[in-house]
Amino acid sequence: MTMTALGEPCVLLKLGEVVLKGRNREVFEMRLRANIKAALKDYTVDIRQRHGVIALFLPEGTGVEVAEAVAQRVSEVPGLVLVHLAWRIPKDPEAVTKAAIELIKDTGEVARKARFAVRARRRDKRFPLRSNEIDHLVGGAINDTYGLPVDLKNPELTVHIEVDRDEVFLFTGGRPGQGGLPVGSSGRALVLMSGGIDSPVAAYRMMRRGLRVDFLHFSGIPFTTSESIYKAYALVRSLDRFQGKSRLWVVPFGKAQQSIKASGQERLNMIAQRRLMLKTAEEVAHRIHAEALVTGDSLGQVSSQTLTNITAQDNAVDLPILRPLIGLDKTEIIAEARRIGTLEISELPDEDCCTLLAPRSAETRAKIEDLKQIERRLDAEDLAAQLADSIQAYKLDA
Ligand code: ATP
Ligand code: MG
Repeated sequence: MTMTALGEPCVLLKLGEVVLKGRNREVFEMRLRANIKAALKDYTVDIRQRHGVIALFLPEGTGVEVAEAVAQRVSEVPGLVLVHLAWRIPKDPEAVTKAAIELIKDTGEVARKARFAVRARRRDKRFPLRSNEIDHLVGGAINDTYGLPVDLKNPELTVHIEVDRDEVFLFTGGRPGQGGLPVGSSGRALVLMSGGIDSPVAAYRMMRRGLRVDFLHFSGIPFTTSESIYKAYALVRSLDRFQGKSRLWVVPFGKAQQSIKASGQERLNMIAQRRLMLKTAEEVAHRIHAEALVTGDSLGQVSSQTLTNITAQDNAVDLPILRPLIGLDKTEIIAEARRIGTLEISELPDEDCCTLLAPRSAETRAKIEDLKQIERRLDAEDLAAQLADSIQAYKLDA
């Protein structure tokens, strides 16, 4: 390391809503630490819980590139709002000043004499200087050394100094975390996962609210190719970085779709099929101890998502159906899919099982009585149990 005044790099994590959790806070923080540990299993890190922050210490001599990689990886773990690559400085005002000067030395901001501010926080009140005294000391030194103008209201460069129990953390900038709650703190749910754009985003949203999710995909096999399964698998693999140990379950659904088709109520095919998917999902959910189903429905987006048809879907099962995208526009969903990296997978071509049944014109106001009549003929409850028996598991342990 050439930047000796800077000491050792580390990663500093700011918690999101976990801090609002009152008496449950301890449980949430434990869960979060366990999730962080699992996400960073390829690195040697020492996870230290401090007051309101988590510090990740790296072995002595660790390079800044590794610290960057750790910061990037951990920023995918739900429950964190900010991730900083920080430097650990001895608790001494002079050392802190020197390090701050070193930290910004080669930055573009210094080169173009950007407006700057120092923001100090003292989590350890025994430190000899108060926050505003640190601001003055370090700010004055930066001003003297580089001639940068101070701007406390609207700085282009902010030097953060956090005085902690055993050391001072120094950093500029940082990357946003995912926000939300630690995966697993809200229970387990089963996501109905097509190869489309919406359901991966719905899965992400619910993981971010603390649900651990399993994924269930209905393939048109044997009447379609396996492409949609590969696609669902690729989506799950991508989403796995937010929770780890994901499981994809696949239902061969083609024959059941044929039976629905044979029932002769073309306009109701789509919604009858959706109800059979939900009934099967409910059966699977019971077996894996999931307490809710999740879909990518968005109100009015397609004919199966009218208010009447959504009501008809809710009516098919007892478990709650969570629909995190219900009030989002397609453009908003696409933007989020792009941000979380699932869009380009969803856009790959495939043979979706739904196309097997797509009617010329679909019912937008399906009557539950009509649907139940179809289901009596199909023996839908039995069929759902059989379909649940036929699921194949794809586990992602790596
Ligand atoms: P998506 O982009 O998620 O496919 P969509 O806009 O295409 O959604 P639909 O195809 O009507 O809308 O599906 C609505 C929801 O039903 C999906 O978000 C998903 O949760 C579920 N779903 C649809 N098809 C399947 C499938 N083959 N396997 C599992 N779930 C499915
Ligand atoms: Mg779809």
